[in-house]
Amino acid sequence: MVKVLVAAPIHQEALKLLKEAGYEVIYKEYPSVNELRDLAKDIDALIVRSKPKVPKEVIDEAKKLRIIARAGVGLDNIDVDEARKAGITVVNAPAAPSRSVAELAIGLMLALMRKIAYADRKMRDGEWVKKECVGYELRGKALGVIGFGRIGREVARIARFGLGMKIIYYDVYRPPEEEVRILGAEYRQLDDLISEADVITLHVPLVKETYHLINEDRLKRMKRTAILINTSRGGVVDTEALIKALKEGWILGAGLDVYEEEPLPKGHPLTRFDNVVLTPHIGASTNEAQARAGVEVAHKIIDFFSR
Ligand code: NAD
Repeated sequence: MVKVLVAAPIHQEALKLLKEAGYEVIYKEYPSVNELRDLAKDIDALIVRSKPKVPKEVIDEAKKLRIIARAGVGLDNIDVDEARKAGITVVNAPAAPSRSVAELAIGLMLALMRKIAYADRKMRDGEWVKKECVGYELRGKALGVIGFGRIGREVARIARFGLGMKIIYYDVYRPPEEEVRILGAEYRQLDDLISEADVITLHVPLVKETYHLINEDRLKRMKRTAILINTSRGGVVDTEALIKALKEGWILGAGLDVYEEEPLPKGHPLTRFDNVVLTPHIGASTNEAQARAGVEVAHKIIDFFSR
């Protein structure tokens, strides 16, 4: 019988699928490395989220283990190279959070353009800041999507069909033609997109080429009335340059879910701007995304053992 160790909370539906497949399911939430090393000796499959850690010392002991599944996207907590060397398959659920991250990006745009977070803060202080809260509509504005992958295209769909925005995009690969056509999206060179967009939203992975992609020079190229949204990875934006841009009014504002340093330290300069909206890396934090992630990896495990 296939023995699965579920080492992090996953959706009920995923547990049900595993049990219906006839697997023995053992549940131990976030075991320490020592605990996991002991538990892993006797399992065929392991499910984790961003925790627990699965280092080499666990993999070395896991003689029967054939598949590690991350119910989510990032694999930073798993020593993937060691796992692969040991012949263990590593899978994840890369599409599960796309819609949730896209909706958060749209939420950040609206929060900035209509000063929702700012107005809310003032209301709590008993201030009626009606005059200061004249904002902008998104309809008819140019949305510049940098990284036109799963999340970038989902943002574009909501923005185009829900809000009536015009879509321009930049990517190093060519996206599916049919989708580009339906969205009426137009390709731009990066620097052209940056100077044309009213809203720039970042959806690239953090790799060598995208580290500090948004730097001082590019922030200076943005319209003074444009906003920057980052729900990708903190390192895609040069934080120091962004602080300078906000201080000197090069851009209208920024909406951020991710940071070069997480958690964002208390009293960080970014927390002092009224035209900045901050969330604590919650892009994928919805019930739906978590359910999809659990179910997607449960299916992948079942497929794997039924091959
Ligand atoms: P994806 O792989 O579907 O899309 C990424 C796109 O970026 C691809 O189209 C790729 O061609 C493009 N790209 C890669 N390198 C590039 C470069 N140098 N210049 C321009 N484009 C480049 O990924 P996705 O699922 O859409 O995820 C996008 C980002 O969202 C990732 O950074 C991911 O880490 C982040 N993310 C954040 C959260 C959150 O909680 N905020 C959750 C999930 C994912």
